[in-house]
Amino acid sequence: MDKNMFGVVVVGIGIAGSVRIRELLNPLKPSPSESLNLLGFVSRRSLDEFSGVKQISLEEVLQNNEVDAAFVCTDNQNHQESVRRFLEAGKHVAVEYPLALSADAAHDLWRLAEQKGKVLHVEHIELLSEEFKQLKREVSGKKLVEGVLHFTGGPLDEQRFGFPSFSGIARLTWLVDLFGELTVTSATIEEQKEVNYSKLTARFLTAENRPLTWIEERAPGLKRDKKFHFSFTSGTVDTLPPPPRASVGLFMQDQNLFAKKLLGQVPQEEMAAEKKRILKCIDLAEEIRKYCEH
Ligand code: NAD
Repeated sequence: MDKNMFGVVVVGIGIAGSVRIRELLNPLKPSPSESLNLLGFVSRRSLDEFSGVKQISLEEVLQNNEVDAAFVCTDNQNHQESVRRFLEAGKHVAVEYPLALSADAAHDLWRLAEQKGKVLHVEHIELLSEEFKQLKREVSGKKLVEGVLHFTGGPLDEQRFGFPSFSGIARLTWLVDLFGELTVTSATIEEQKEVNYSKLTARFLTAENRPLTWIEERAPGLKRDKKFHFSFTSGTVDTLPPPPRASVGLFMQDQNLFAKKLLGQVPQEEMAAEKKRILKCIDLAEEIRKYCEH
């Protein structure tokens, strides 16, 4: 068996899962993704095959020694259970964000991965986008006075995707990656269930005691968009020129990172920093939910 080749499966054939299959079938060459060998997919539906890839039952995947790793692309509410089962079966896991829908579950899963000596990779394509890279360059070295990040989008089923601070973890991750340690000072949620409207408002302080606000607003017909307004001692950042098109797709970039981890090519400090950021964001999401519940 070639130690540099990894048998993988994709679990959940929705938007993300279909992209994963496409990217796994067409790895960038040369790239670490070439070491991922797609063996099949798992779905609750009976699909038989998808893009020429065969369906395998979950039980068979868990027992099959040729399967080294799983891409978990199911609804958020299923992540915790799926990730746990694959780790327990001794498989590496790449899971679409968020890792889990509670802080306790996320910490437990990370401990389990470490006990099993397996890679637990949480996809964070929002940090790989050209838009974010541009914003990060723009913000770098500036002293924050205050800032707001306002996301809008269509309604999301909370049963399947979790409380908005979890389903919106991509926005929270932006703020943490841009401004470092944050402390939640308040959070409220306004909901009109009959019209499918929800608006989460969370307020934070940075380590330098500068205020940040995150708004996650969803309603039918609301355009998917992100607006930001960051004031710095040196001026304001609220628009950026249209970002250049990424030469490598976001899921492919993420898949390369996962493959590099499997190949042992990602430095320990980088892995530790990623783990810290992911768990910190989930802790913040949990705190925000608690504020909203009170
Ligand atoms: P989706 O609704 O299109 O797909 C989810 C799929 O998972 C569905 O086909 C569903 O039937 C299947 N599923 C649910 N439970 C299952 C189970 N127990 N076993 C097998 N299949 C199961 O949603 P999506 O947009 O593909 O999102 C999936 C995940 O990817 C979410 O966690 C989301 O946060 C993440 N994600 C999506 C995108 C994107 O661009 N769509 C980007 C980043 C992250």
